[in-house]
Order: sequence, then C-alpha cells, then structure tokens
Amino acid sequence: MNIQQTKSIIEINRVSKFFGDKTALDAVSLNVKKGEFVTILGPSGCGKTTLLRLIAGFQTATEGVIKIAGKEITQTPPHKRPVNTVFQKYALFPHLNVYDNIAFGLKLRKTPKLIIDKKVKAALKMVGMTDYDYRDVDSLSGGQQQRVAIARAIVNEPEVLLLDEPLAALDLKMRKDMQMELKQMHKTLGITFVYVTHDQEEALTLSDTIVVMSEGKIQQIGTPTDIYNEPINAFVADFIGESNILNGLMIHDKLVCFCGVEFECVDEGFGENAPVDIVIRPEDLYIFPVSDKAQIKGIVQSSVFKGVHYEMTVLCNGHEFLVQDYHHFDVGAEVGLIVKPFDIHIMKKERTCNTFEGKWVDDTHVEFLGCTFQCLPMAVSPAAGSPVKVEVDFGKVTLQDNEEDGMLTGEVKFILYKGDHYHLTIFSDWDEDVFVDTNDVWDDGDRVGITIPPDAIRIVMN
Ligand code: ATP
Repeated sequence: MNIQQTKSIIEINRVSKFFGDKTALDAVSLNVKKGEFVTILGPSGCGKTTLLRLIAGFQTATEGVIKIAGKEITQTPPHKRPVNTVFQKYALFPHLNVYDNIAFGLKLRKTPKLIIDKKVKAALKMVGMTDYDYRDVDSLSGGQQQRVAIARAIVNEPEVLLLDEPLAALDLKMRKDMQMELKQMHKTLGITFVYVTHDQEEALTLSDTIVVMSEGKIQQIGTPTDIYNEPINAFVADFIGESNILNGLMIHDKLVCFCGVEFECVDEGFGENAPVDIVIRPEDLYIFPVSDKAQIKGIVQSSVFKGVHYEMTVLCNGHEFLVQDYHHFDVGAEVGLIVKPFDIHIMKKERTCNTFEGKWVDDTHVEFLGCTFQCLPMAVSPAAGSPVKVEVDFGKVTLQDNEEDGMLTGEVKFILYKGDHYHLTIFSDWDEDVFVDTNDVWDDGDRVGITIPPDAIRIVMN
C-alpha cells in the first residue's frame, strides 16, 4: 500500500490532557494515514498511553479535537468508535474459554451464530491459534493469551487497532517472534495499527511511522530511518539507538568544530560561530591504528565484545567516544578515528543557558524560581519590582545530595552524557526546568538541592 497517497484515518488536532495541575499531553497534533503502522514511542510518563486512551475513548481530551474516519469523536464513548484496543495485561475473561472470549463482543451485538463461528475461526487462524477454541485461557502461556487478546480485538473488524505495549509482559524470544507475527498480521488485515511502546528497537522493527514523545509533547514524527539517521534534537538521538552527543561550534557553512578539531560536514544555514549539538552514531566512527590519516587521536579506555562487533570507548582530547567496529583494539592502544562529513549530524541547540522570568528586589537581590537570590550589583539598578530576565550558565548551577543544602529542590529528570560532562534536566519543585552541566554522576529520579551563586546570575532588562 502506498501510504503517502492514502488519506488520514485519525486526525488529532492540538489535543491536551490535564490531570489537575499535571499536563499529560500538551497541544499534540498528529495525523495517521489509513493502513499505516504508527508507533508512539517515548520514556515512561511521556504521555503515550494517555494519547492512546484518548483515541480509544477511555479518557476524554481536556482541549482539542480528535477525528476518526472524518468524524469528530472527541467526546464519543469507546464502544461507538471504530477502534479496538489490545492491552499489555491481556484482560481476558478467566471464566470463559478461548472461543467465548473472542466471541464475546459479537454475542453482545447479537450477531448470528453461524457468522460468529466463521469470524472466530478466522481470527484464531490469523493469530496462529487454530484448534485452541475450547482451551481454558488460564492454561495458555503469556504469548498465547496475548494472541487470544489480539484475536478478540480483530474479530470486531475495527478500522483501527490500538495496541498498548502488548508484548511487554513476554520474554525476549517470544517478543521477537510476536513482533514478526504482528507485522505480518498488519499486512494481511490491511487496517491501521497504532502501537505504544517504550522499546525503541521494537518501534524501529515494526513501524511505518514513529512518533517520538517526551514530556507530553511530540518531539519528532518520521520513518524509522529518518528518526535514526536524522534525529531532530539531542533527546531523540539519545533515546533512539546509541549516540555520541557533544557540544560543537558551527564555524560557518559545512565546517564544524568539536573536541578541539575542525571537521568538514554537509550542513548549512546555522550562521557563523553558532553553538550546536553534534550527534555521531558509534558505528559511523572508523577506528584504526594511529596514523596521520586520523582526524582525532585517542586511547582505548574499554572494549567489550557484543556478539557481532566490539564496543569500545576512546578518550580523545578529554572527550569520550563510543565506537562500534568489527576490529578489536586493546585497552591502552593508541588509535585514530575518522568520521565522514555526512555522518556528522548537527542540531541547533535548544538553549545555550538557563533563562528565567524574574523580578528585581533591591540592589543585590532578584526573585525567580520562587526564591530570592543574592546577585551582584548592577551598574544601573532597575526599580524595585521591575520584571527582569535572568540568565544562568548551565555549568554554574551546583547540585547537593542533601536537598536541604540547596536554595531550592528538585528531581533529576533527564541525563545526557556529552562525552566530557553530563547535561542534566532538573525538574524543580517550582515546576520549572533547571539545566545543569556537571561532572558528578546522578541518577534519573534523584532528589537534589539546587544552588545558584551570586556570580552565576546575569540580569537582562526586559
Ligand atoms: P508509562 O510507559 O509509564 O505508562 P506513559 O508514557 O504511557 O508512561 P502516561 O501513562 O500517558 O505515560 O502518563 C503521562 C503522565 O500523566 C504521567 O506523569 C502520569 O503520572 C500522568 N497521569 C496519567 N494518568 C493519570 C491520572 N489518571 N491521574 C493523574 N495523573 C495521571
């Protein structure tokens, strides 16, 4: 099927979902084409299940419009939508056998017996469970129960099948087998699949289109190759596959500097001397015994055999690179690295420092993030109470183990390793993000104290 030419079956237009103060979805827009296999991918808590539930009708959107097959269904109850859902926990009726589980919905709709029989048999065949009709569902393995759950959903011939992490409870081998079967089923049925997972490999394997989400927002929509080869920002690059992510400086078109070395690249339009994020996939770095051909030279720090290739870390000018290659180099070996211009992915930095809205208090104090901070006096002080913009460099914010030692508190939410330091997103208890560059190792979810010293605070008049 040529998906490009078919029209949208699901249209989601600026949909938001709030749970009290919590924004689970923030003005999300997405079009799903008829017959497409779309995967919504993202870390835990990013809002992917909420989005699926809004399409299914188990929850209703706070704002925005959802259409299926051209009809607005934003407030339509689930059973009146042309969709069926397969859940992670199979949710089968334990007191019914396989046949009756699958036939349940059809019986409710008073479908004639003969037709039920034909449809149930066809659904069982589709999921490879012919001859299991009269088995107790309790006697089935996890994989078989999930097949029954899929059969129960497709027997109603929905236009859209929604799948919420349907393979998450299965072991790795079963998951891989079922992935292939789902792909085949999608092809045979010809209907639209919307699939939710946090497993990037599963998303890359199954999908026509991947929707990457983070914090209630869509970060990128694209084919698996687009998303892998051209991630739109450092979050997507870090989430999909392994990446080297570094700070760089675009000197001018087609010339970028990182790790203290200038590299030819293929990108243009960033301007001159613009700070950028650089992404290089580990398989795109060529490693060889050091020679003059090397663009960067380094020392192998670790080397692990991964079955097909070796995964090595190489320290070059204080930056650590992850390299995957069929050739093995011993720890301590001096090596050279080369990267081709089109394998250097360059992204505009989302921000180069923290920016907060604040209020001038007096000659040496400014209020932002819900606290009053001491700052250095300005040549000409603004009037007390004036709104000001406050800038704080990432590297000047310090974090404390003991929350009480900080001026304010927060939680480590996202950690990006940038080769020679960590870039952290801290979700402050004032509900605003604070970005921090540090060499200290923190874990996702760590509670921290946050301190911003006076000399870190830059006041920009509004
Ligand atoms: P997971 O993979 O862990 O299920 P997810 O990406 O599917 O995560 P959602 O379940 O959609 O995320 O949740 C998004 C955010 O909304 C989370 O912060 C979650 O705690 C919050 N949330 C979801 N449902 C509710 C609810 N009924 N009440 C309050 N908050 C909720």
